Amino acid sequence: MRKLTMSVAAILLLATACQKHDSNQTEPEEIASEIGERKCASHEILQQQIAQDPERATRMQEIENFTERYLQTARNNSTSAATLTIPVVVHVVYNTSAQNISTAQVQSQIAVLNEDFNMTNADNSLVPSHFAGVKASVNINFVLDTIIRVATKKRSFGTNEDIKRSSRGGSDPVDPSNYLNMWSGNLSNGLLGYAQFPGGPAATDGVVILYNAFGSKAKNPSGTYTPNYDLGRTATHEVGHWMNLRHIWGDATCGNDFCGDTPVHNTSNGGCPPADHRSTCSGTPLEMWMNYMDYTYDRCMYMFTTNQSQRMNAVFAAGGPRNSFAN
Ligand SMILES: [Zn+2]
Repeated sequence: MRKLTMSVAAILLLATACQKHDSNQTEPEEIASEIGERKCASHEILQQQIAQDPERATRMQEIENFTERYLQTARNNSTSAATLTIPVVVHVVYNTSAQNISTAQVQSQIAVLNEDFNMTNADNSLVPSHFAGVKASVNINFVLDTIIRVATKKRSFGTNEDIKRSSRGGSDPVDPSNYLNMWSGNLSNGLLGYAQFPGGPAATDGVVILYNAFGSKAKNPSGTYTPNYDLGRTATHEVGHWMNLRHIWGDATCGNDFCGDTPVHNTSNGGCPPADHRSTCSGTPLEMWMNYMDYTYDRCMYMFTTNQSQRMNAVFAAGGPRNSFAN
């Protein structure tokens, strides 16, 4: 039944994508307004890829099987994975000078990733005591390699991947098997960002972030930021997907995020919920809305869990889909 539901959803998404397909046309100018709830299109894009290429689903299942075996071994072996360093290429695709974010703003984003993935973020101390036992470092470092600046005639980009194509007003990725490619640009429809899960096409591999949600106002106050999404957590969330993390609610009512140490959530949380906010799913657990893989404001997300850390490290392990980064 679940499979059937997924297929229907995938067809609907594909139909929507087809209606919107007119990628050469300049999209209407985005009116700058405050963004409401976090919007991330990673799951929808995965469903589109599966609808267009049934082998994508097979590859995702193979990656999931591999990850499950890795987690089994990790449970029986207390030693954590060695720290990995990921070189990053940032594509700044801009139509206005405000969108041409500064090098300092880009660097502030790299600094946030390094803190969040190594649990050195100051707000990690806010993790409530009932989750203190499962909060975890991922032990992954990020190093800025190159910034590529591309002036574009496009006023905004949707999820059709034009931002990743030089021929469509975007910027082609650089060697995705050895670099994490991050695109900063103006995104339409209030979208904050999206990532490609492991196992997808090289031509579109990486993460895309709205230019004024890229970087941290706390580290680089002179940059360009949008309220509530101004601490660089959109990139933390999207890089989490790029390393195979699912949304904490499993993109379904009381869904599965393949992590045993995250509580079951009804759906996404927005804003900054109260600490005692409970799920109405089985067992009515306290929800982990402060997890980077929820939809809360940047200032209200500050942890990954042990299982999430293991899933991300599995991606880079021998036999994992991004093992090329470890060599
Ligand atoms: Zn997401």
